[in-house]
Amino acid sequence: MELPEDCLRCGACCFSAAIRYVPVTGADWSRLGRDAEHLAHFIGNRAYMKMTDHHCAALELRAVSEGGCTYFCTIYAHRPQVCRDLERASPQCAGERHVKPSLATVPRDSSSTILNA
Ligand code: SF4
Ligand code: SF4
Repeated sequence: MELPEDCLRCGACCFSAAIRYVPVTGADWSRLGRDAEHLAHFIGNRAYMKMTDHHCAALELRAVSEGGCTYFCTIYAHRPQVCRDLERASPQCAGERHVKPSLATVPRDSSSTILNA
């Protein structure tokens, strides 16, 4: 699948139906600062980013005039390590786009797509 022109037009790696999708380490929690309290939570004895409508709670979908939307990480500078480690155009990035291909090509309707990746 073709690499989108930038990550703002993709967002695939920020979507999942899994509630334990984005682990938050102790260092991540510290880096998030006050954002940790409303964007992350503990499940059992481990912390994760909260998930909303099958995407990370830190992801903001912004409508664009030409249609569709952009996928904006509101905590980009402070995002968890697992997000930092996922390199654009890497095999992992390709895998994300492969299992969630609709994100790069169509506007999101959070009620229309169930993601299990
Ligand atoms: S899957 Fe790849 S291209 Fe898409 S947002 Fe993530 S890093 Fe960017
Ligand atoms: S923290 Fe940002 S980059 Fe990581 S999954 Fe959430 S929205 Fe995506």
